[in-house]
Amino acid sequence: MTPPASPAAAPVDRRRELRADCSACAGLCCVLPAFAASADFAIDKPAGRACVHLTTDARCGIHADLRQRGFPGCTVFDCFGAGQRLVQVAAVERPAADPGVAAAFPVLRQLHELLWYLAESAALPLPAPLRADVAALTGRTERLAAGDPAELAAVDAAALRAEAGQLLGRVSAAVRPGGRDRRDADLIGADLRRTDLRGSSLRGAYLIGADLRGADLTAVDLLGADLRAADLRGADLSGALFLTRPQVAAARGDGATRLPAALDRPAHWTAAPVTARRPRRRPGGRGGAAGR
Ligand code: SF4
Repeated sequence: MTPPASPAAAPVDRRRELRADCSACAGLCCVLPAFAASADFAIDKPAGRACVHLTTDARCGIHADLRQRGFPGCTVFDCFGAGQRLVQVAAVERPAADPGVAAAFPVLRQLHELLWYLAESAALPLPAPLRADVAALTGRTERLAAGDPAELAAVDAAALRAEAGQLLGRVSAAVRPGGRDRRDADLIGADLRRTDLRGSSLRGAYLIGADLRGADLTAVDLLGADLRAADLRGADLSGALFLTRPQVAAARGDGATRLPAALDRPAHWTAAPVTARRPRRRPGGRGGAAGR
């Protein structure tokens, strides 16, 4: 007897694999980037110099109190798992002091962020030709990400971002039910509590300090949207598109905020409110490696 046909396997969302494991890294994000004293960082630090709070075993000595100690910028940085991967590949004694690692790290971080968006895309219900394009770019990005530090440093990340931005735009258009296009809109401080945003594109929009309490963000494209200090208390983002940990960490939320399954609730969401001051940029703070 012919066995019944198996139901089509549900697409696997691989985003959970693209997360930092600081225990397997060497404090790259606490040494390589520069940061300036601001609302995000309590001190100035030049590129390539270890933060004063980095311990000898490459851990943050104030990890549990970063916001209270004036380092909220550290809580919104995410390497998407690029740091530990690069440390393993480079196999040098002091990775954070290695010029090759320094050149490769920002590139690999961008590739991993792109893989995040592509993994989400692959889990969406797309028409077959678009699914094939997502798979092809995923494969190409994976091969680039598997390079050694010299190969990574030579990757034309800007060109790849631009190409990915086009593809992710097609993915977005395929799964959104025709909401408004508010791409790159200036919505700083806007009261959006009673605005029907479902299905909209807010790609690259400036939502700093916007009031989104209780908003339904189902099928809203948030790729690269600036959510710093946006009020997401009670909002439903469980079906939002292209949302990342840095965006969520930079926003304000509570126990009633609903997030996509791939994202955890930031620890500070139950703590004191964040301010709506404009923090300075640090690579990765806004999210959106893909060209918008
Ligand atoms: S404060 Fe902690 S997380 Fe931030 S750069 Fe310094 S050591 Fe790293």
